[in-house]
Amino acid sequence: MKRIETLCVQGGYTPGNGEPRQIPIIQSTTFKYDTGEDMAKLFDLEADGYFYSRLQNPTCDAVAAKICELEGGSSAMLTGSGQAANFYAVFNIVSAGDHVVASSAIYGGSYNLFAVTMKKMGIDFTFVSPDCTRAELDAAFRPETKAVFGETIANPALTVLDIEMFAKAAHAHGVPLIVDNTFATPINCRPIEWGADIVTHSTTKYMDGHGATLGGCIVDSGRFDWTRYPEKFPGLTTPDDSYHGVIYTERFGIEKAFITKATSQLMRDFGSVQSPQNAFMLNLGLESLHVRVPRHCENARAVAEFLSKHPKILHVNYCDLPGDKYHDRALKYLPNGSCGVVSFRIKGGREAAEAFMRALRVASIETHVADARTCCLHPAGTTHRQMNDDELAAAGVWPDLVRLSCGLESSKDLIEDLAQALENA
Ligand SMILES: *Cc1c(COP(=O)(O)O)cnc(C)c1O
Repeated sequence: MKRIETLCVQGGYTPGNGEPRQIPIIQSTTFKYDTGEDMAKLFDLEADGYFYSRLQNPTCDAVAAKICELEGGSSAMLTGSGQAANFYAVFNIVSAGDHVVASSAIYGGSYNLFAVTMKKMGIDFTFVSPDCTRAELDAAFRPETKAVFGETIANPALTVLDIEMFAKAAHAHGVPLIVDNTFATPINCRPIEWGADIVTHSTTKYMDGHGATLGGCIVDSGRFDWTRYPEKFPGLTTPDDSYHGVIYTERFGIEKAFITKATSQLMRDFGSVQSPQNAFMLNLGLESLHVRVPRHCENARAVAEFLSKHPKILHVNYCDLPGDKYHDRALKYLPNGSCGVVSFRIKGGREAAEAFMRALRVASIETHVADARTCCLHPAGTTHRQMNDDELAAAGVWPDLVRLSCGLESSKDLIEDLAQALENA
């Protein structure tokens, strides 16, 4: 087993003799076959291969294979965005009338997807605090519960999920744990090692890392045995009429059933593919992920330490800081560092937060995180503006909260910029 640094650089693609060293961009919607029978086998999922890039494309598959190796999974697929990844990961095993338990501290887009859009599809979510006890978590399950969902480090609340506890509870109720590992990246945490069954990513963030391409990824651990609960997961364990009665768990085994179904049904029908061009750029980002992530963390730590001592700052959320509410959990799940994102509450409320942000010179205001350039955002006024005050409090998003994503610049310049903005605001 290669080390993670080597997998970042070389994982997913091994060229043969005389083949391109870099992953080729297969910019082709379709693939040519000698006979109709050859292609029919692909349509029936009887043979492996490519026929239309809405389902699979070799460039995207090579990059998915790298992320799969980084997370220690058994199979993986790319999607056009993180939103698509989380939607597919959940919708692959639920249908109208089903229920999902989710942490309340999640990305605002995921919250909307679950609480509004999927709710309209007849899927019900119960949101639990990431700090709930095992008994509180157990109480959220229903007979029709099909999955548990959380984020390793929540965006933007920066809470740390007790992955092991959530996984044990999910498994005790016969359902998988899905973990969005976007902020930690596999460099700092590999949720599968702690019992998670499915890992998702917005590759738009650290994995691309340059603010250049939207993308998502789903990795299956291959460890959740759907066939133990066939009545719960009929989509995986009973015949799919659209492929002449194929049963995913029988034909592809528990290692590949989940991703094969998500590709051949959900991607076929919803089509949120990642383009081969974008997958190529994502791979350039992945080649330096192990070099960039520690530097993001180093800058964030320096910034968090500075802010935590500043008289105009009410509170700093950064789990690497001793004294942070999540420090103990971070020591367990994120021993090498957490992420480059720090959030903090400024004295003076919503107006102070907005004035401070206007005064920044190095950090810019953006609806983004986790790229090379430092940027900041006021979550209550932007990403979370659809929430009422109670929901904001449950998500840990206060009106005076600023989220700062530390880039790869000099930490000295970042701290000088924060100091002048706090002074001038
Ligand atoms: C950004 C983000 C998403 C959504 O990803 P997109 O690529 O923007 O669609 C999902 N989860 C987390 C934790 C994110 O930060």
